[in-house]
Amino acid sequence: MIDTHCHLDVPRFDVDRAQVLERAWAAGVERLVVPAIGPGAWEALLDWPAREPRVQVALGIHPQLLPELPATDDDRHLSRLDELLGRGVACAVGECGLDGPSAERAPMDRQLAVLKAHFELAKKHALPVLVHCLRAHPPLERLLKAEGPPPRGVLLHSYSGSHELVKTYAKLGCWFSFTGPVTFAEARRPLDAVRAVPIDRLLVESDAPDQAPVPHRGQRNEPAYLGRVIEAMAKALDRPAAELTAQLVENTQRFFGWRR
Ligand SMILES: [Zn+2]
Repeated sequence: MIDTHCHLDVPRFDVDRAQVLERAWAAGVERLVVPAIGPGAWEALLDWPAREPRVQVALGIHPQLLPELPATDDDRHLSRLDELLGRGVACAVGECGLDGPSAERAPMDRQLAVLKAHFELAKKHALPVLVHCLRAHPPLERLLKAEGPPPRGVLLHSYSGSHELVKTYAKLGCWFSFTGPVTFAEARRPLDAVRAVPIDRLLVESDAPDQAPVPHRGQRNEPAYLGRVIEAMAKALDRPAAELTAQLVENTQRFFGWRR
């Protein structure tokens, strides 16, 4: 398995990060991607893959962090991002995106400008993009249609849109990943979306420490639980879990441009 999105650098893992990684490898996770939340995390993340190549990192500014950062610093942060992406360590640009609930303190115009800049950097550095989109699908769809998708593709992480929207996004070069909520008893919407995704554009993630799958729902999540998410997706797709796991690994390697 490959976990395409987990925030193992956050303080909630400070007490037992090494053990969390050990449990992940023991559970059959062979690689994982840690996307940065913001500028304060970039430098430390860039040192990680050299110490542990099974940990890959992405660099970006999360839209939920924008309210904490002065808008006057956006250009400075983005040029620093450009410089750090130039080191060739990061496997993707992100996490970046649009967040409806944050729009009150970080207006959508600013969020769109910052996301557009991430897309431009992705194009410049020939990297895929990890996108967060929560209650902001109409502006994301408009942006992708107006600008064209970044050439290496966009991963809509923890996809929260409707199954109808999947087709539109797929045409715009998007990939889709799913997490813990597909295991919840009331999970109709995310499972409808899973079934709508072209099988070669489907990915999986833990989104740890958030969105833990059943039976860990409500607790701190970790990559070792990823198998639960895959099992629920496999059930929805009526495929054996082992077969889906192989497909997801293959898709992930294609998305990030990795070879086995
Ligand atoms: Zn995230």
